[in-house]
Amino acid sequence: MEAKKIVDFIRGTFGENEAFIPLHAPYFGRNEKKYVLDTIDSTFVSSVGSYVNRFEEMMTEITGAEFAIATVNGTTALHLALVLAGVKHGEEVITQPLTFVATANAISHAGGVPVFVDVDRNTMGMSPLALEQFLETNCIVSDKGECINRISGRRIAACLPMHTFGFPLEIKDIVNLCRKYNIVVVEDAAESLGSYIGDSHTGILGEIGVFSFNGNKTVTCGGGGAIVTNNKAIAQRAKHLSTTAKVPHAWEFVHDDVAFNYRMPNLNAALACAQLEQLGEFLENKRNLAHIYKSFFEKSDIVFFEEKEGTKANYWLNTLIFKDKAAQLDFLETSNAGKVMTRPIWRLMNKLPMYSHCMTGDLTNALWLEERVVNIPSSVRKNKLKK
Ligand SMILES: *Cc1c(COP(=O)(O)O)cnc(C)c1O
Repeated sequence: MEAKKIVDFIRGTFGENEAFIPLHAPYFGRNEKKYVLDTIDSTFVSSVGSYVNRFEEMMTEITGAEFAIATVNGTTALHLALVLAGVKHGEEVITQPLTFVATANAISHAGGVPVFVDVDRNTMGMSPLALEQFLETNCIVSDKGECINRISGRRIAACLPMHTFGFPLEIKDIVNLCRKYNIVVVEDAAESLGSYIGDSHTGILGEIGVFSFNGNKTVTCGGGGAIVTNNKAIAQRAKHLSTTAKVPHAWEFVHDDVAFNYRMPNLNAALACAQLEQLGEFLENKRNLAHIYKSFFEKSDIVFFEEKEGTKANYWLNTLIFKDKAAQLDFLETSNAGKVMTRPIWRLMNKLPMYSHCMTGDLTNALWLEERVVNIPSSVRKNKLKK
């Protein structure tokens, strides 16, 4: 199909008169201003305040996790989650090469070393088969019960799969495999708020899950993140470490650990609460858009990426798979020149200078997707929201 024809169709879907169609713009309803002004009137704009607590409650209700801890962004949530998972300096964390750079950076922030294993073509998330092959070929469980990479001699402390563009990966198989090898699973669910595997929300099948509320995500609060877990001890430690590890006392400053200032400010939480109230409507709106795209691309040689059976995607970013790199490039050029914002998938992590030395498995699928995937405009369509 001709690139120009697709660009015209996307324009028609969002409104012919828009000068520029962004990839994903936020939408703000009525309560956003009201709640933010509340925090200013109350003077509680910082990390103590009722909206932060309300945000955490809403996140437990939405995800079904027992505990949720608010953070300043998704990257810090990932960093904290990896610390809580027990990642120590010089230890390895297995992740996927096809992800946003924050995933790999958080591993480095925790002192860890990323190891990259391949993704599946039908989920774009970590492949259980690739993980199994990597573990079977390279790793042993020591007498102390630690998983050791025999090639590097390092302990493998955690596994960090990522639900790409909100499409759930095969997390159950990953968790079962990691259990066998004594590896803690942290889910990078940053992009997958509102995505399900069966009845389970993403982020709750691993030991710890992480969400982001950055400006380009399905729900935003400017900057924000959250950790979810069913493990009480981890939840308590997450709260403690995110708030400078201060020992509760009426006036004394005593801190019992090297900790972080990672708690979400009330100002942001106010915005987050107002946005989360609309999550259901946003998801429905985005699913409708995905249906429109799906029918359009059915008649073409371009694959519109769909959720796998038994899962529900949030369709955060709608995804096309072109037949080859030339077709991908041609479409990127035509659409962006036509002021319809489209983006290729990320450059693989192992190709970035700071991660080029990292150990990898066979990356056939990640390389295949890197040359073909393009994201197309996916914002909530304002004119289709219920009044
Ligand atoms: C957005 C995102 C993050 C980081 O979230 P921030 O809130 O921007 O720090 C981490 N991982 C993935 C996969 C993301 O898409």
